[in-house]
Amino acid sequence: MTSDVLVAEDVAVHYGGIKAVDGIDLTLTPGRICGLLGPNGSGKSTLLAAITRLVPLTRGRLLLDGKEYHRAAPASLAKRGVARTFQTVRLLPDLTVLENVQVGADLHGRKAGGAAEAIERTGIGDVVSAWPGELSYGMARRVEIARALAMRPRLLLLDEPTAGMNQAERKEISALLRDLREEGLAQLLVEHDVQMMVDTCDDLVAMNFGAVVARGTPHEVVQNAAVREAYLGK
Ligand code: ADP
Ligand code: MG
Repeated sequence: MTSDVLVAEDVAVHYGGIKAVDGIDLTLTPGRICGLLGPNGSGKSTLLAAITRLVPLTRGRLLLDGKEYHRAAPASLAKRGVARTFQTVRLLPDLTVLENVQVGADLHGRKAGGAAEAIERTGIGDVVSAWPGELSYGMARRVEIARALAMRPRLLLLDEPTAGMNQAERKEISALLRDLREEGLAQLLVEHDVQMMVDTCDDLVAMNFGAVVARGTPHEVVQNAAVREAYLGK
């Protein structure tokens, strides 16, 4: 399966007695958006942290392009084409929006080229001179996405990128992610908006208590009885 960008095998992250993630298998492929659904505390952000090497694995294997990387430094992943956004916005407060996006481009050694394109595609051209503290929450999230895109990644991991955005803004972000898919980007998307996930994703994985409860096409997963009970409250 050489075309897979990322493979996670039996990944577990335990914090003492808390099994935040407990045996997840995941494959991320160019030109596909994999969605991760699950209630608060089900382990979605911890799985992203494990994939991006921000927390150590308790168990399991992580492979990029078929090679194990589960001891790699987090910073080295940017050079290998892995970019992410965080559930809580993490912009550098003393840098302008433009400078924040350029941080992403610099990580890839591409300077302003990647930044300019990322700014245009995320629709933040009007706020490039602003400070992060002056931005609305939705705008700040767009800047985070721009910074990740400025790295020109092959794999993009998005942790609730549209939280705090209105319906129209969500649709814009969904359209952007689908455009990126057509360009061959592999993506992992965490979102709570089930309709957006169905409209955006090629594959869905539903988690609860650190484990997968269902996976398949979006329609299969949202029809799954365990998912409806655990997540949709039906
Ligand atoms: P989600 O993103 O799905 O809401 P998280 O991955 O943030 O879930 O959390 C999964 C579980 O792990 C929760 O029970 C949470 O309290 C716990 N957890 C997350 N991070 C830590 C940590 N650094 N130390 C201890 N427990 C944690
Ligand atoms: Mg989370």
